Amino acid sequence: MDHLINLTPHVLNVRLASGELVALPPSGEIARVEQRLDHAGYSIDGADIYVRTFGAVIGLPDPRMGVNFIVSAIVAQAAPRGDVLSPGELIRDATGQPVGCKGLIASSTEMMPRSCNCGSEIEWSQCGEQSPYCG
Ligand SMILES: [Zn+2]
Repeated sequence: MDHLINLTPHVLNVRLASGELVALPPSGEIARVEQRLDHAGYSIDGADIYVRTFGAVIGLPDPRMGVNFIVSAIVAQAAPRGDVLSPGELIRDATGQPVGCKGLIASSTEMMPRSCNCGSEIEWSQCGEQSPYCG
């Protein structure tokens, strides 16, 4: 689990490809997204209706080689980056209690680690070949 940093306030139980369930403790830092609720000016059956507006993402570090950040689904939606992940499909036990999640969800397929287009076999963002095919 050297490449995963949990930026949620909760312990995450992630089921690995091997089937093993691994607990990822919170890192102590929390990524969140600013949100504002404004009264929509009406109510339905007496319930006030609000409109939610999302603002800036707070507490999400810049991309770092070899590091991936796990955030809540709401933060992941606001931060489409290949290194930003959110908990995968919820797994429940026989009594319906949540026990963990199946893998993780990438918030974007862009910036995923892959070897450079020039054929150097080096991670594309780190390639120093400076060929016209790099990228
Ligand atoms: Zn290259």
